[in-house]
Amino acid sequence: MAGHEKQTLGFQAEVSQLLQLMIHSLYSNKEIFLRELISNASDAADKLRFEALDNPALLESDPDLQIKVTFDKEARTITVSDNGIGMSRDEAISHLGTIAKSGTKEFFGKLSGDQQKDAALIGQFGVGFYSGFIVADKISVETRRAGDSAAVRWESAGAGDFSIEDIDKASRGTDITLHLREGEDEFLSAWKLKSIIRTYSDHISLPILMHKEEWDEDKKEQVIKDEFETVNQASALWARNKNDITEQQYDEFYKHVSHDFQAPLIHTHNRVEGRSEYTQLLYIPSRAPFDLWDRNKRGGIKLYVKRVFIMDDAEQLMPVYLRFVKGVIDSADLPLNVSREILQESRDIKVIREGSTKRVLGMLEELANADEAEKKEKYQLFWKEFGQVLKEGVGEDAVNKDRIAKLIRFASTHNDSDSQTVSLADYVARAKEGQNRIYYVTAESFAAAKNSPHLEIFRKKGVEVLLLTDRIDEWMLSFLSDFEGKELTSVAKGNLDLGALEDEAEKQQHEQTQTDYVELVGKMKTALADKAKDVRVTFRLTDSPACLVADEHELSGNLARMLKAAGQAAPDAKPILEINPDHPLVQRLKYETAKFDDWAHILFDQAMLAEGGNLTDPSAYVKRMNEMLLNMAA
Ligand code: ADP
Repeated sequence: MAGHEKQTLGFQAEVSQLLQLMIHSLYSNKEIFLRELISNASDAADKLRFEALDNPALLESDPDLQIKVTFDKEARTITVSDNGIGMSRDEAISHLGTIAKSGTKEFFGKLSGDQQKDAALIGQFGVGFYSGFIVADKISVETRRAGDSAAVRWESAGAGDFSIEDIDKASRGTDITLHLREGEDEFLSAWKLKSIIRTYSDHISLPILMHKEEWDEDKKEQVIKDEFETVNQASALWARNKNDITEQQYDEFYKHVSHDFQAPLIHTHNRVEGRSEYTQLLYIPSRAPFDLWDRNKRGGIKLYVKRVFIMDDAEQLMPVYLRFVKGVIDSADLPLNVSREILQESRDIKVIREGSTKRVLGMLEELANADEAEKKEKYQLFWKEFGQVLKEGVGEDAVNKDRIAKLIRFASTHNDSDSQTVSLADYVARAKEGQNRIYYVTAESFAAAKNSPHLEIFRKKGVEVLLLTDRIDEWMLSFLSDFEGKELTSVAKGNLDLGALEDEAEKQQHEQTQTDYVELVGKMKTALADKAKDVRVTFRLTDSPACLVADEHELSGNLARMLKAAGQAAPDAKPILEINPDHPLVQRLKYETAKFDDWAHILFDQAMLAEGGNLTDPSAYVKRMNEMLLNMAA
């Protein structure tokens, strides 16, 4: 005996919170505890099999990995046992007393206290081992790590602390015993437990064993025999024939690999032969995980080699912009002793990643281009959850850029709604005759984009403009200069070029106006020398007197503000002030002398405010405005 005294330790605060919340919010789904415990047992077997590749002695004389589910009616307990990797004392303390996921604190900070909403969130977080407390008021875990002789018993009533003590345990692995709460006796039935296992855990590739039962004529009841029988199919789901797998089995397998609670949106299952031979079973979740924005988070793909589990989260198998994809890839070519380092160099892995990326894009295209309403809706759902991540692909995946560009959806002046439903192909199909550009505006919010003065001429001419308000948009656009031969053009950058959208008469009239305003423009340049890089007449405005534009090759005002907000250095480029010759304020300015400078500054500052910018000297603006108002009142 290693001689540790029995110790009582506190749970990490988040564990206590998770337990509280879970017991109440998942009660209507309580039978899932068995799925979660079996899922962990299966993972433990996978880990042992993997470690045993290097160290076969770990398997001792017991190489047949399996899971046993037993129950005791008298004691009112259910026990899930595995002969997998087991846990050392330290592992039991940290794995069963803390939550190791990154972002846990933030996640719990987001919970609202509204049980229904929080229940949905908790499923997304993954409940795992702790779900046993939904039906148990005490859980006892006896575990011995493979290769160790020491074993421990971990015990808790789920109320804030647990105890840990040294014990003797004859074999490696973990026995988890649930002491059922009052009223949960329905689970003390072989029939019930078997039906739960067949529903939720049939896909587990290890045998799940339960005692056989036999009808006893004398006692007139089922009696439990010493022999065991296998309850599930016990073959790797992805290796089975597609036609033999039900949707529910696919869904349950997804929940096992992803630790998600909800069914996935869609899956793709293929055996690939040729240069490289592998099977892929890939899923797109129906909801973004809480840590979607953590780009350092490893991917969600489990790598197997010839059915042997090799590693979780093999990030080399999927590009970062598809980090939301979950599933399994089973290679027939890789050596069993691959490490993360080898994966980075491997040709086979590169081929698998390319093939899997294409599969995922294909799966998305199938939804995006479908005629069926159900698939279309699924695509919108996907876009809402993961669209911003997919956009990263435009910059990161040069090979598939065109395919990704077609999958992107935008808000647009076409329907003036902030839901992103318009594709570049939709836009091009609606383009005016002679329109050789795709116009867009970027802004910090949908309202600012929709009401941008830069859109005025486009609205007047009935030309559609894409409304871009996601943080990533400007970055993405720097990689997307054209689509189907049409240049993507910011309506707020450079000289407005309406090309063939302007007729000859308009062009001539514009030239005349330019000449008429040469003098005013010159005076304004002088007055605004500190603020504006240039002043010029524009025909893009109909209602507003003036607007700001960025020079062709400079950062847009929106991007500069975003960079600064993120604490990054952004060059202080001065914008160009464009004035609307049809606006009465601008027309009056031609004849203004005394207050000319003030008016010029007011026009500039208003244009800055209209695009959501900040004034460098707000009090000077207020003073000038008030003076003008007083003059009017006088
Ligand atoms: P998750 O499985 O999502 O990591 P859990 O709360 O279900 O979270 O389990 C926490 C950890 O406890 C697991 O990651 C694993 O390391 C360990 N664990 C749970 N069950 C077992 C088991 N049967 N055998 C070995 N380790 C286990």
